[in-house]
Amino acid sequence: DQTICAPLPVLGADVTIPLVTGGDVTYAALDYAASSPALQRVWDDVAAYAPYYGSVHRGAGYLSQLSTDLFETSRATVAEFLGCRAEDQVVFTRSTTDSLNLLAAALPAGCQVFVFETEHHASLLPWRDARVTYLDAPRTPDQAVATLEKALAARDPHGPALVCVTGASNVTGELWPVRELAAAAHAHGARIVLDAAQLAPHHPVDIAELDVDWVAFSGHKLYAPFGSGVLAGRADWLVDAEPYLAGGGASRKVARRADGGVDVEWHTTAARHEAGSPNVIGVYSIAAACKALTEAGFDRLVDREQQLVTRVREGLAGVPEVKVLSLFGDDAPRVGVLSFVVEGWNSSHFAAALSAEYGIGVRDGLFCAHPLVRTLLGSEPQDPGECGAPDAAPGERSLNAIRVSFGAGTPDEHIERFLGAVR
Ligand code: PMP
Repeated sequence: DQTICAPLPVLGADVTIPLVTGGDVTYAALDYAASSPALQRVWDDVAAYAPYYGSVHRGAGYLSQLSTDLFETSRATVAEFLGCRAEDQVVFTRSTTDSLNLLAAALPAGCQVFVFETEHHASLLPWRDARVTYLDAPRTPDQAVATLEKALAARDPHGPALVCVTGASNVTGELWPVRELAAAAHAHGARIVLDAAQLAPHHPVDIAELDVDWVAFSGHKLYAPFGSGVLAGRADWLVDAEPYLAGGGASRKVARRADGGVDVEWHTTAARHEAGSPNVIGVYSIAAACKALTEAGFDRLVDREQQLVTRVREGLAGVPEVKVLSLFGDDAPRVGVLSFVVEGWNSSHFAAALSAEYGIGVRDGLFCAHPLVRTLLGSEPQDPGECGAPDAAPGERSLNAIRVSFGAGTPDEHIERFLGAVR
């Protein structure tokens, strides 16, 4: 079916690069999990707006007012895209990392945090002042829920608690049982934040339907350019917290006191955590991406991506030296993100060869999820050679994997070229 199979055009589709073996080839971008190419439609929207952008919230001029209007409309577009509840706030940030650090800075006193060791470092590391319980890697989705239930049942039931969980793994692409984890969290009086950095670009996310308290994602993985992200969800903890950044835009009233100090009244809207001149173009591009995905028919994009997932799975299964990494089993539902190792090969050499000899851009390494990759690979060195993962510590030079990831705009040819190269 042509309608289902038509990929949504992205930037860079006709970029050609030289091969070491001679000649030029179109670049096959298969590293969407790191950053996806921007949708052509997003780029066009941003280009149409760019001559008109101005400072938001402050200027009296026409372009400032226009930009303020577009900035606030973008907030409403993102809220609609995420299925936000009436009382939710959409805070614009720089990225998922920034969003989760913002939430970490807004935790109520004494908050306990529960996080699986399998998370991306952006979800694993921001909770520095909280009491953190790291949960062991589960081997089935049911085990994930049971592990969380057990940990929450043992917690001090009086204080506030937060669970942080990924929707789709940036290493295995596997889907996590978000709805069930949210139900478990709420049953034990805890809140839950969904790291949707990898889920949102590949799957519609509905905050109310999943019944999660917050969602975080990044524009540059959702087919928008770099520089902006989102934290959406419950207003109460955010309104009670000190502003993430102190400065103009976050403050409603600032006045000298008789004793010489300064009194500040902070906003109670999302602006409380958005001090400074915001990234108007970045915010506008996120909203443009949300609209483009919705108008293209997100479900159709999911169908098309799942066809590619099946093709990659089958193709890799036909190469005996390849081992695809998974926590929940080879057949577990996943988005267009798969990591693997190749027996007898150093993963960095393998990825470099895919680039130099075939024009294919993948990633090798530990994918900012060191504990997960260690669990998946075991402590045994996987591959020979001196070349280590770009993000590995010196002692772990041989512990790394290769990740292929794709989505809207990926043509069949890129997948076939990749499978041919692996073979
Ligand atoms: N969470 C997950 C699951 C991710 O894959 C990533 C990016 N690799 C992040 C968080 C962090 O996103 P960013 O780098 O845009 O802050």
